[in-house]
Formats: sequence, structure tokens, C-alpha cells
Amino acid sequence: MNVEFSTKAEKLQPHQTGALLYVCASEGPDTADGGNPTAALLYAALEQAQTFAAAQSADNGSLKAVAVVRLQDVQRETIEQAAKEAAAWAQKQENVNVCLAPFCETDSPRVAEIFAAAFGEAVYRFDRYKKEAKPAKLQTAVFYHAEHSQAVQTALDVAAAQLYGCNIAKDLGNAAPNECTPEFLAETAKAEAEKLGAQAKILDKDYIKDNMGAFWSVAKGSKQKPYLVELSHFGAADKNEAPIVLVGKGITFDTGGISLKPGLNMDEMKFDMCGAAAVIGTFCAAVKLKLPINLIAIVPTCENMPSGAANKPGDVVTSMKGLTIEVLNTDAEGRLILCDALTYAEQFKPKAVIDAATLTGACIMALGHDVSGLMGNDQALVDSLLAASRETNDKAWQLPLFDTYKEQLKSNFADIPNIGTPGAGTITAATFLAYFTEDYPWAHLDIAGTAWKSGKEKGATGRPVPLLLNYLRNVR
Ligand SMILES: [Zn+2]
Repeated sequence: MNVEFSTKAEKLQPHQTGALLYVCASEGPDTADGGNPTAALLYAALEQAQTFAAAQSADNGSLKAVAVVRLQDVQRETIEQAAKEAAAWAQKQENVNVCLAPFCETDSPRVAEIFAAAFGEAVYRFDRYKKEAKPAKLQTAVFYHAEHSQAVQTALDVAAAQLYGCNIAKDLGNAAPNECTPEFLAETAKAEAEKLGAQAKILDKDYIKDNMGAFWSVAKGSKQKPYLVELSHFGAADKNEAPIVLVGKGITFDTGGISLKPGLNMDEMKFDMCGAAAVIGTFCAAVKLKLPINLIAIVPTCENMPSGAANKPGDVVTSMKGLTIEVLNTDAEGRLILCDALTYAEQFKPKAVIDAATLTGACIMALGHDVSGLMGNDQALVDSLLAASRETNDKAWQLPLFDTYKEQLKSNFADIPNIGTPGAGTITAATFLAYFTEDYPWAHLDIAGTAWKSGKEKGATGRPVPLLLNYLRNVR
């Protein structure tokens, strides 16, 4: 399923074996010294608003697929849109040769990276439960640029690592909840990390029961055992340098617990571990790129089920930090497992902690399905994440985290309740987490709207792997 991306430091020859794709800007494909005449014709015939055209041309007695892309500008969204069209065509070819000739030193790697990402996205399939698999045809994509092939190759390596991470996240997200149990999630994370030479540690039910009262209160309602996964990569020259810690919510199925959810679309609650999946995917992508940072990924994982042992509204539980929590709604379970994972993160004396969680339906009300919610206690960290979001078009938007929101989190019986009074549900969830992150710079991504798609295109998106990976690549 993985496309092999490579680059050649030469001009694309018109009779090169395989399909030909000419990515052009304001000028059409080079027709000098025997350039491809079909490509030139296709380019000339493009209508004003058209950005992509394809045809079959006769080549030494056989048919050859030829396509052209015309970019009106080199804005990221323009390139992404065109790349998507080209990818729908490319996935039907076995080998595609891409000509990037007209682009400069900054634009050629950008264009290559976006096209490679689009190709990888187009060939993704999740059909392991189906009798008949229908894989895409595309095997290899070679990007030609005579002058800047080195920069193009570096960009392709980044795209390949990002796809690798996104595919891990998507596969885990899409897996059925009877397969992707907490044990499966933990074992997969460990296997993927160790395959790349990173370290993995799994803490089991006994540790959680003895140390993490909030996490255990959610987990105890299920027959499936909970786990806490810790992956580490020491890529920095100084192994003692403070690490970046990623934390991902890993509820492999969320029924809501005793505060049971309505039945409609409840199957989609298998995606409630997409924060964990994205954190595992990002970690693996970072290791694959051998990023020179110390990185730790923490995943608390369990099911949220109704049973005789489940949390009840009104229960008071004691978190790892010592704060007591009144469980007013058992469906606000994500923050109960995250708060203990965030306390666990303290021991690493982290440079920064970023959590990703499908945390609140309110985030979809506020920002919809294309934009993740971003909050934090350190503006420099939030700004770095926003910059990474812009650079990858993996959209995120900052919501405020004023101290006054704490007024919405009052309990008559415990230190804090697990839900706030009505209004600003995404922010009061983050405010709850903020009680547990006072000792380090922290940011929180609410990906309830962006981690998966519903309806006809139902499936995990792999977000926010692009945002997080880009942040890690730029971190100093
Ligand atoms: Zn829930």
C-alpha cells in the first residue's frame, strides 16, 4: 500500500516508461528538444478555471497516460487542490513520473511534498475485513528536477514519514472496536515503536489501579483491561535534554458509561482513541525521520462501558495528583484518564507537553469538522503549534483559557467536578486539564471534529499527525 517516492536529478524524457505528469505554473510543459507533445496540447487546451487534464497518447505502438497540472499560484491550498485531482488519476497508474521543472528552489520541494502526500492519501485503503480487497495501482512516483533534486528528496522523505504516521493513525482509528481493544492498541504501539528501534514500556491494570484513581474509575467498568503506554525516543545529542511529551486519549470505545449515549451513530465512538492513534503515529514518524529531539509518547487506554462496576454520577474519585473529582457525567471520561496521564508526565520534567484528544462535542459546535481546537497555558508553545498548523494546512484555532472559566468548575463535594456549568464546553474541559498541567508548558488539541469523517466518507483522517510532526521538526 505504500508508494515509493524518489527523485532524479535530470529532465523528464518524453518517452520515459510509466505515466507522465507535468506540473506547470504559468508556462506550459517545455516542448524544446523533443518535449512531450501530448502534454503541450493538453496544457494549451485547459479551460480558464481548469487545473488538471489527462489523456492517453500513442507511444511506440502502445498507449501512455499523460497528464498536466496548471497551478494558478503557489499558495498551499491551490497546490493541495490540484494535487488531489492529480492523485485521483495517479492512483490508477502503476508508475508515475512527475516533472517539476518550472519551480524554484523553495517551491519545488513544497510542490513535491504536497503531491507525494496527496498520492499517499489517494492510495490509502482499509479493507482488511472485506472478502475482496481493491488496492490502488500506484507503486512508484519519481519526481524529476534537474537543479534542486536534493531539496526535493528531503521533502519526499518528510512526506513519506508523515504518510507512515498518518497510516498508523488511520489503521488504528478505523479498526473495529472488537479488534482494537486497549490491549491491541497498547501492543500495536509497542510493536510499531520497537520496529523502528525506539523504546516501549507498558504499565498494566495493577499500576493503574494503585496509582491512577481517575483513570481506573473509568477503566473498571469494562471487562477489557486498561493500559498505560510509554514510548521513548532519545534523538537529541544530550540524552538528558528535557523531552517533548505527547499524550493521546485512548478510549477504544465510548458508550458514555452510565450516562449512556444515544444509539444513533454510536459505532463512531470507536474513533474515541484517535488522539492516541495520532500520538503513536506522530511518534513513529518522528523516529523514522530520526529527529534530533527527546520525545516521549504517553497513551492511557481503556473502554468506557456501563456495568455494575462502572462509575456512577456522583461518585468521587481521587486523581494521581491528589485532587478529588466528582463524576457528574460518566461520558466526560476522557479528561479522567488524561488528567492522570498528564500527572504521570511530570516525572520527565518536560520541555513541553501536548495532548490530543477527541474530547468534546462542543468543539464541533464551535469550530466544525475542519478545524481543531487549541488551548494551552504557554502562549509561545501555542504559537509554535499554530505556525505548524498553518504550514501543513492541518487547521487549528486557539480558544481562550482565562482563569475565570474556573468559576464554571465548582463542586460541593470534591475539589473539582468532571464537567462544568453550561457554556464553553470545550474550554471548561481544557480548564479541567489545566489543573493537572501547572508544572510545565502545556497545550491541548481538541480533535473531536477533525479526527474522523462521518457519512459516506466515514473513516479516520490521521489528523493531527501533520501538525504535530511539523511542530516536532521545527522545535528547538
Ligand atoms: Zn465520553
